[in-house]
Amino acid sequence: MRNRQTDSAYNMPIPKPELMQRIERDEDDKLDILIIGAGLGGLGAAISLLLSGHSITILESTPTISEVGAGIQCLPNSTRVLVSWGLEPLLSRHATRPRRCSMLGWKGGVVSSMDFWEYERETGAPFWDFHRGDLHGALLERAKELGARVETGCRVVDVDFSNDGSSATAILADGRRRTADLIVGADGIHSRCREILLGRGDPPVLTGDLAYRLLLRTEDMRGDESLRGLLGGTGQGEMAVRYWMGEVNYLLRNGELFNMVLLVPDDMPAGASTLAGNVEEMRALFKDWDPRIPKLLALCKSVYKWRLCIRPGLDPTWSH
Ligand SMILES: Cc1cc2nc3c(=O)[nH]c(=O)nc-3n(C[C@H](O)[C@H](O)[C@H](O)COP(=O)(O)OP(=O)(O)OC[C@H]3O[C@@H](n4cnc5c(N)ncnc54)[C@H](O)[C@@H]3O)c2cc1C
Repeated sequence: MRNRQTDSAYNMPIPKPELMQRIERDEDDKLDILIIGAGLGGLGAAISLLLSGHSITILESTPTISEVGAGIQCLPNSTRVLVSWGLEPLLSRHATRPRRCSMLGWKGGVVSSMDFWEYERETGAPFWDFHRGDLHGALLERAKELGARVETGCRVVDVDFSNDGSSATAILADGRRRTADLIVGADGIHSRCREILLGRGDPPVLTGDLAYRLLLRTEDMRGDESLRGLLGGTGQGEMAVRYWMGEVNYLLRNGELFNMVLLVPDDMPAGASTLAGNVEEMRALFKDWDPRIPKLLALCKSVYKWRLCIRPGLDPTWSH
């Protein structure tokens, strides 16, 4: 058995990820691939398959691709991949790189903390926090730069497989049909593709929690000394991520936005995924917490409730 403390192989820093070089293929060696869904997964699959030399069209159901969402955290296991896809110059412009990560009790006492930068040195890849819109925009830009065709307003409702298994056809809500050598389903948590593959309805599993998600302007926090402390000084070196048990916060967009996620039991009506939340109701749920939380929530003018769902792995699993 290997010992992490004494085994030098475990303690060696992992080198920075290498840039993936694009594979050049002859036309008859190239697959014509349709990806369903231009979310983070679909765009990531597109970049990877384009670098592998294939030809990609992405079908996205929304009429336009716009900047939606709030904060999203990328840990070194995923930033390694983003860097290897050539995204570092584009993404490092949008990322915040928090240093200190603290776990706090609901009254604010520190339970534990770690230095993300030290961990970065160990893993060879950064901790990056983004506004989801910026991460999504960068993936879209890179996919298009590599040659992806992105078609919006294309809701896929069914997939037909050819009898010999050599092709598949995506059927769109307006009746159009698109045939390809391979179809990749990347249509998110309420995936229609997953149901088509399984041949039965397969809704996501509710976790029983919902997240209040909000963005505050950090300039509104600077007037209060205890809230100013959450912003750190100037420069990325002072930025931090804090996990109160039930609340997470971190800074975005060069420290201009303060992202908060607050978890509470799910009380949303059946069928809803995202709803406008009631700010007063949210404040009441957190009124007895660490006094900084009610102060932060007093600055909030509107909030969204996101129902949290998970997807257990497919059984049997699919691999190649
Ligand atoms: C609008 C939005 C905002 C989000 N904001 C955040 C955030 O702020 N922070 C965070 O941590 N996570 C956020 N998420 C979740 C996060 O992006 C996903 O959980 C995660 O990235 C999984 O990626 P995915 O590609 O599987 O799914 P998604 O990123 O959800 O992408 C799925 C895509 O498929 C499209 N689609 C769905 N059905 C069809 C169909 N039948 N035909 C064609 N296209 C279809 C959708 O419009 C969407 O663009 C958000 C997701 C969405 C859709």
